[in-house]
Amino acid sequence: AKEKGRDNYQFFNASLNESMRVKMHLENGLRKAVHRQEFTLCYQPLIYLPTGRIIGTEALIRWEHPEFGNIPPSDFIPVAEDTGLIIPIGDWVIEEACRQNKVWQNEGHEKLSIAVNISVKQLEDPGFPDRIKKILASFDMDPSFLELEITEGMMQDFDSSIPNIKRLKDLGLKISIDDFGTGYSSLSYLKVLPIDTLKIDKSFLDDSLESFRGQALVKTIIDMGINLQFNVIAEGIEDRMQVEFLLSQGCLIGQGYFYSEPLSPTKCEEFFQKHLSP
Ligand code: C2E
Ligand code: CA
Ligand code: CA
Ligand code: CA
Repeated sequence: AKEKGRDNYQFFNASLNESMRVKMHLENGLRKAVHRQEFTLCYQPLIYLPTGRIIGTEALIRWEHPEFGNIPPSDFIPVAEDTGLIIPIGDWVIEEACRQNKVWQNEGHEKLSIAVNISVKQLEDPGFPDRIKKILASFDMDPSFLELEITEGMMQDFDSSIPNIKRLKDLGLKISIDDFGTGYSSLSYLKVLPIDTLKIDKSFLDDSLESFRGQALVKTIIDMGINLQFNVIAEGIEDRMQVEFLLSQGCLIGQGYFYSEPLSPTKCEEFFQKHLSP
């Protein structure tokens, strides 16, 4: 009886109870959020570092919950992945990002690319490439302007994703490895997967200029990306010293608060006016 009492106590432990309630609330909210149009996308400019001009954007999802307010993606994306809701949410993200990018291209930003984050659950879904194909066709969009970002941590068990990654490549779109260098995975996938871009995780830039090893790591990652003939993008650029360092190492593309935080579509259009794409 004493044992049981203890278990009960743990189960009804206030914080656990609270976090379960929050999770159930999130789950219920997520189910309705697509229809209720509670999601929006914001766009962070991708900059060609030698000129400071914008060459594309990365779409980042935002959720304004009617009760909880703004919930960050790091809180609800894992719940969406666990519940399978990432499939309809992910479809919405790709469709909305392509729609917006096509509007901007039609307004004269003809070469502007759009990057979208995807979850491994989407990548493993057999119907995913066909749905992307339909979305691209519906906007008459050139597939080479769409880049799908896959977090390196998801590549641990990438065997099941290979067929879909190849089909996506065959459609003509681009594949990036996001948060590169943080996934604790073997590098062998770089040999077999048709990858276009490495995005250096922002944690490498935080202290890149402060220590010999930090600098050497960033240099080595950039060199590796260049040797493998990938595009190399630095994320999380926050000051000019980092820009100079990246340029001196041959990294030509970057994003971060130094240039711009993620912006609403309207704010993004203001940014275009000041940093016209080449
Ligand atoms: P991520 O793809 O690595 O996106 C970069 C995150 O860093 C974004 O956070 C961005 O706002 C933030 N950031 C940008 N510049 C800087 C900077 O200079 N310094 C610092 N410290 N941070 C910067 P956000 O928007 O909260 O997104 C967090 C993560 O949520 C993303 O990381 C991505 O993994 C995921 N995510 C966002 N949108 C989506 C989506 O539509 N689908 C999926 N599956 N995941 C998404
Ligand atoms: Ca990303
Ligand atoms: Ca990243
Ligand atoms: Ca991330």
